[in-house]
Amino acid sequence: MPPEFDIIEQLAARQPVRRAAVATGIGDDAAVLDIPAGQQLIVSTDTLNSGVHFPADTAAQDVGYKSLAVNLSDLAAMGAQPLAANLSLSLPRHDRRWVRDFAAGFFALAEQHNVQLTGGDTVRGALSVSVTVLGVTPQGAALHRRGGNVGDAIYVSGTLGDAAAALLHRNGDLSLNDAQRRRLYARLNRPRARLALGVALRGVASSCIDVSDGLTADLGHLLEADGLGATIDAERLPLSAAYREIFDRAGGWQPPLSGGDDYELCFTVAAAKAAALPDEVDGAPLTRVGIIEAQPGIRLNLPDGTVEQASAGGYEHFR
Ligand code: ADP
Ligand code: MG
Repeated sequence: MPPEFDIIEQLAARQPVRRAAVATGIGDDAAVLDIPAGQQLIVSTDTLNSGVHFPADTAAQDVGYKSLAVNLSDLAAMGAQPLAANLSLSLPRHDRRWVRDFAAGFFALAEQHNVQLTGGDTVRGALSVSVTVLGVTPQGAALHRRGGNVGDAIYVSGTLGDAAAALLHRNGDLSLNDAQRRRLYARLNRPRARLALGVALRGVASSCIDVSDGLTADLGHLLEADGLGATIDAERLPLSAAYREIFDRAGGWQPPLSGGDDYELCFTVAAAKAAALPDEVDGAPLTRVGIIEAQPGIRLNLPDGTVEQASAGGYEHFR
């Protein structure tokens, strides 16, 4: 069998078609899916390039897991439930073991969220993984970046800064003990897509975004969508136990504010709806970190009483 078809077969064999919505899966010129009546299709694509989005020595399992997780995170931010995914793989050579390990990570997460792989493309080139996810929401229920209002409270799920700390360690800028390394790298390599939270926020959040490029950068996008600004209380930023242990050495507030790769949700809630918000969803605490204001820009209340203008920060390609 030519390598290309061997790879496709290796992937297709991992997951029989189980979802009723998938009328035609892998093997035809395109997939055919039924969209449930009264629902809207939510579509998103994210690409991970070796050396840019993940260190070149990242385990294939983690690449597989993360390539789907970052896409599911976009669906979570829209309040969508996943249905299916397409996978475009660019591989430098035919390596069955790499594909097997990649698939182990990818399908572990796909099975967890009932995501059917419905197609893709397989080509030779620099290592790159591009995933397109398809999800659904009830008509008109999707969350958006726009929609926040002055006075809405700003929340984030989970904890911030852990993935950034793992990257600092990887680059030799931070020493960690074994327990810290395990916990922080798990956040970098196996981000949790907050899908249950996204669904719970339908009709509750006024706006929502996932934090992939850093809180100030992504909150900045959310606020720009409405021409508004915000003040964030640094002391309210949710930090993991592992991050608290290394807070000073890791750079204090910088990683939780501007470090990427957390894949938590940042969302806004009007005061009248704040009571409807649970304290946590799926084990992820929801923390109020600030408030939307009319004045554009993000201001940061620091523990010493000073107020700083937060820089846009965040990772930018082509810079
Ligand atoms: P075509 O030449 O018509 O694009 P391909 O040979 O590229 O067909 O693909 C054959 C089938 O395998 C299609 O259903 C396609 O969606 C699927 N496929 C190809 N690569 C992948 C992949 N990496 N993951 C999942 N399905 C794939
Ligand atoms: Mg093709």
